Amino acid sequence: SPTGRLSAVPATARPVAALAAVVGEQRHARLLAAARDFRTRFAGHTLWTVSSTASGGSVAEMLQALVGYVRDLDLDIRWLVIGGDPGFFAVTKHLHHLLHGFPGRLTLGPDTAAHYEDVLAANAQDLLGRVHPGDIVLLHDPQTAGLAPWLTHAGVHVVWRSHVGCDLQNAATRDGWAFLRPYLQHADAYVFSRRAFVPAWLPAERTRIITPSIDPFAPKNQDLSPAVVRAVLAAAGLIDAPVTGPPVYRRLDGGTGLIAHRATVVAETLPGPDEPLVVQVSRWDPLKDMAGVMRSFAEYVAPYAQGRLVLAGPALVSDDPEGALVRAACVQRWRGLPSAVRERIVLASLPVDDVDENAVLVNALQRHAAVVTQKSLAEGFGLTVAEAMWKGRPVVASAVGGIPDQITEGTGVLVPDPSDLAAFGMALCGLLSDPATREQLGAAAHERVRTAFVGDLHLLRYAEMLTALLS
Ligand code: UDP
Repeated sequence: SPTGRLSAVPATARPVAALAAVVGEQRHARLLAAARDFRTRFAGHTLWTVSSTASGGSVAEMLQALVGYVRDLDLDIRWLVIGGDPGFFAVTKHLHHLLHGFPGRLTLGPDTAAHYEDVLAANAQDLLGRVHPGDIVLLHDPQTAGLAPWLTHAGVHVVWRSHVGCDLQNAATRDGWAFLRPYLQHADAYVFSRRAFVPAWLPAERTRIITPSIDPFAPKNQDLSPAVVRAVLAAAGLIDAPVTGPPVYRRLDGGTGLIAHRATVVAETLPGPDEPLVVQVSRWDPLKDMAGVMRSFAEYVAPYAQGRLVLAGPALVSDDPEGALVRAACVQRWRGLPSAVRERIVLASLPVDDVDENAVLVNALQRHAAVVTQKSLAEGFGLTVAEAMWKGRPVVASAVGGIPDQITEGTGVLVPDPSDLAAFGMALCGLLSDPATREQLGAAAHERVRTAFVGDLHLLRYAEMLTALLS
């Protein structure tokens, strides 16, 4: 079936040695030793990592970099992306919301399960033709969970990696986990981003906590000088400034990139290059609460402080009908604002024609921001938070999901109740009027990410867990 075919994602080797300059020789050596240990036990086998998309969202963002580093560690790793039809992805998006504690619009009945299983059965046939006994298959998220039962007799080790979850189980999460449980029981090991996300019925001794990570050298996070940041934002039509230098960046494969597409913006005018920006970069997903950021800014920031708000998300793709609704609702709300407020808010859709270009636009926006927000209602980890912290930005974010694992005392501002628009606005106003605190939080934030969320640690923990799996 055309909807059930896997596609292989090419990933170029990335030099692990480069990480030493960021994380220090000791951490670098520890990773090399762990990789050597694993390689010895795994000789002759292949590590398969299977996800639902090659671009857009945090899983793809991380795999782009991590798969490249694993190649450099001399391991045979292949990245596969499953195929599915819109009905399948509607089910998995629904599961995603449920596991974050939010009831969705669908009902998970026998028909839904049958369709989910059919699509994954077709993908599994393809996968079974590729794997060999002794290989390891790392499945990511609910989209791939239904592959696990098909792999039980293939002699491979199956690990299921969840990037989602929420601290408090409720009726929605129970429905979501009940749907996945029959499939997940066939996995040999489990990885979660946070202990509180793990459902009680999973065997604790086969479950590990591994937090996500950023890659300092990826287009998303690489250093960009202020001049290049300006040139990139001007070239993409995100700020009103003359393009003074070439908007160049380093692509993931090491080549040189140039901004070739413009963003689509809904705005009265574009911000000037020196206006302080509050920025949130998110998918157009209701749980990211872009509309809430807008309301908070309109009511509690615009009347009291300088600066503009930029809400940026990916340009819409046809397979994200929910994204189109969320964005349209934001635009409608924007139109309803008084013009003095409206002219201080920009809604931007970033071109997605090229993954690296999209990444560098996010990078430039985050670097240019005076303050970054992540006002999510639920969050598996919130990679955008680590990305902004790495860039030395002060972040104001909801204390939900994995965000409090990242923002600790003095490394950003946590707002306890994600629906508290006034608290959000007040935190933003406070920072907009206090450059010294912004500077201080930003410096501590960068160090926090260096200590805990750079890719070498992610790889080290995987190497340790996979070595244990083979023992
Ligand atoms: N992102 C992007 N372009 C966009 C919006 C988001 O590249 O227009 C990236 C963002 O930089 C981050 C990822 O998508 O790397 C989102 O990860 P996060 O964990 O914040 O949320 P998720 O989308 O996985 O729920």
